Amino acid sequence: MHPDQLVNWLAEHRDVVLDLLRAMLEMSPDESPLPRDQYALFYDALCCSLHGGDYRPVEELLAEWVSAQQDVALLYRVPLLPVLVALKAALWDLLPQRLPPDDALMGLKVLDPLLTHAVVKLTNLQATSAQSKLTEELEATKRHLEHLDKTKSDFISIAAHELKTPLTLIEGYASMIVAELGADPDKRLLSLLGGIRSGAKRLGEIVQDMIDVSMIDTAVLTLRYQPVRFRRLLDLAVREWQPSFNERHVVLALGDFDDAGRITFADPERLYQVFNNVLGNSLKFTPDGGSVVVTARTLPGAEGQERPGYIEIMIADNGIGIAVEDQERIFQKFERVGSVALHSSGKTKFKGGGPGLGLAIAKGVVEAHGGSLWVESPGYDETACPGSTFHVLLPLCYEPPEDKSGRLLGMSAGTINQGKRE
Ligand code: ADP
Repeated sequence: MHPDQLVNWLAEHRDVVLDLLRAMLEMSPDESPLPRDQYALFYDALCCSLHGGDYRPVEELLAEWVSAQQDVALLYRVPLLPVLVALKAALWDLLPQRLPPDDALMGLKVLDPLLTHAVVKLTNLQATSAQSKLTEELEATKRHLEHLDKTKSDFISIAAHELKTPLTLIEGYASMIVAELGADPDKRLLSLLGGIRSGAKRLGEIVQDMIDVSMIDTAVLTLRYQPVRFRRLLDLAVREWQPSFNERHVVLALGDFDDAGRITFADPERLYQVFNNVLGNSLKFTPDGGSVVVTARTLPGAEGQERPGYIEIMIADNGIGIAVEDQERIFQKFERVGSVALHSSGKTKFKGGGPGLGLAIAKGVVEAHGGSLWVESPGYDETACPGSTFHVLLPLCYEPPEDKSGRLLGMSAGTINQGKRE
């Protein structure tokens, strides 16, 4: 049977085929979203494609069907495919009934590639359309999240700056009252004023953390490169923390420390802040009687480079540990493990909570140096105390960078730029 004869046969039997198709679709559990006239349109497009030997009329109609489905969720559910399957079944039913066997076979042979092509085309169109709609939705969600994050950063920054002024007043007036008390002050009054001043100092530190984290968020943190000896820096931090560790009966020790013995360049103030934050946490999350050990090793740099390329500083405690699923999220701002309701403030108290900014700042500072900060811990267990080890990996910079903002270290321009330190 010639394709044209088949087209004639299809034209003559249009109503019979379409009636059978409708009957089949009505029996199917999936209700087709297509208006009934669309079946006829597809049938006509099929005839047109057969007649001209060109698949485009069928393809164009399928594209129209798919683009009419706006909703991504719907796209996966709409039973467009069953329409094609039912049409094929209807034709496979009718042709052998109404034509001599040889003609029916030839007709089916002509129809089969076109209908198969239509099925493949429809599946592809649906997949592509669903994918592009999902991408659009993901991008919109991403933009929304970025906007929310910016709003949060703006709020932190504004709140921190607004808190700074009254805080300065509290500190100033408290100092003036102490001065007014003269040489022989009332001890009780002095201790009450001491309370106000230490509260204001702690609040000042939190406000400064908020400012730091918003500078990291908005990429205006500037590093001031100076000569640094890592061992000295860690010594200072350890010495600063020693009294608090003694108070809590937690051993704090500086172990093997290979820092290449050289002066390298980094921002010592900012790195001191990193070590302070990590050491402070190691005390807070280690029970009395535990220990914290700080070690360091150098690592090779690029091939052919004689001097070590990196230093890795490890701060290992035998405290309560951190669940594997929390090991990334604790580096995000305001993230803490456990319930906020159980939160108790304290810089050195066992499990004392803070605002959840320390590690976000530490990570921001280390990354601004072109390094990375991560934690390893077998998991969280307050009884077995498996401990945690924080790793600070920093590139060793042997020459003072020309541009003191630190962009020389190969970090992304977004991480750092020319803002002023508060
Ligand atoms: P916070 O102000 O709460 O200390 P951080 O950003 O410094 O905020 O730390 C975030 C959270 O990470 C802590 O609340 C704690 O749950 C967890 N964490 C940090 N360091 C340790 C550690 N050494 N051992 C166990 N948990 C830790």
